[in-house]
Amino acid sequence: MRYVLTGNFQYDLGIYGLKKIFDFFDEEYKTDGKFYVETDKKPEEILELIVLKLTSDKGANYFLSKLADTILKDKKEAKKEYEKLIKENPVYVELDLEKLVKKEKSLDKVIEFLAEEIFKALEKVFKQVSVQINKGEIEEILWNKAVNLLNNILLNFQANMSAKGKSVLEKAVQKLYKDIDENTICSFCEQNPAKRITRDTFFFAPAQFNAFWFNEPSIFICPYCLVSNLAITQSFAFLGNEVDAVVIYRPNLEDMRNLNEGLKITDIRELAKKVIDYEKLLLKQEATTKDLQIIEFHLDPQNPHLEFYMLTDEIIDNLLKISNELEKLYTTYKDSLWGQVKEKKGYKS
Ligand SMILES: [Zn+2]
Repeated sequence: MRYVLTGNFQYDLGIYGLKKIFDFFDEEYKTDGKFYVETDKKPEEILELIVLKLTSDKGANYFLSKLADTILKDKKEAKKEYEKLIKENPVYVELDLEKLVKKEKSLDKVIEFLAEEIFKALEKVFKQVSVQINKGEIEEILWNKAVNLLNNILLNFQANMSAKGKSVLEKAVQKLYKDIDENTICSFCEQNPAKRITRDTFFFAPAQFNAFWFNEPSIFICPYCLVSNLAITQSFAFLGNEVDAVVIYRPNLEDMRNLNEGLKITDIRELAKKVIDYEKLLLKQEATTKDLQIIEFHLDPQNPHLEFYMLTDEIIDNLLKISNELEKLYTTYKDSLWGQVKEKKGYKS
């Protein structure tokens, strides 16, 4: 499958995220570095890589605490006792999940190993609160917790909460292919039969964001394009939590990498600096600047929203012209800036 950027920010950010996932796992793919990524992997193989990456991002101790919460959910007394005990003697897993995930590239093996480690870490304290645990049960819960990370990206993507163990992943794979109509064609890649887009198949579905769709009444998506959309959060710079994120978007993979890689946003200066420095470089190389968008995401699964800041080439040119003054605004006059933002009264100085 060749994923080609379309100019639709959601789709393109998914492709950029997918490229980052392939890089993370050192997987082979073809690309011109700018406008396409080509892979011979099937959607289900890509899905597993995405779940593995999301699992790795969470870290082993996230799963340990989720697991304890699940097992102790209806055991009030034991839970109280458990919390008291771990306050005195914290339990944790010393496991480099990133290394494990990269080595195994198999959710089955990663979960087996992780379950073993978590079992060892919790065995003693669970005995003290008289709660039985076994590795099989831990594995089952871990399958749920790992695959359900997809639901943070697409609401109810894997909605079958009665699925257990490995079948949770199988259900997610089935969801990719469910309701495909052989008589339709994907609006994005224009290659494969597809299904109608809804909130559980695309990040921000059309009902919420008509303006950014291709002005078509019905939009369809195929399993390949749907799975790449699940990689979208890999393109974000998160703002110190897992809900608020920013990305600088331009339909060009190389630009997105240069604009977003290593972006740590503690204040607006870093964002402005990143844009200005890179655009200065581009101006030197190509004697021109191009539009870009800064997109801010609030990823509340019930009520997600987006803010767009469009920087046209004209605005970028002007930003470059006043870059020295801007730098002063973010450093020397920083307090004035915040004064203005907070009080809406204009500059103090
Ligand atoms: Zn497609």
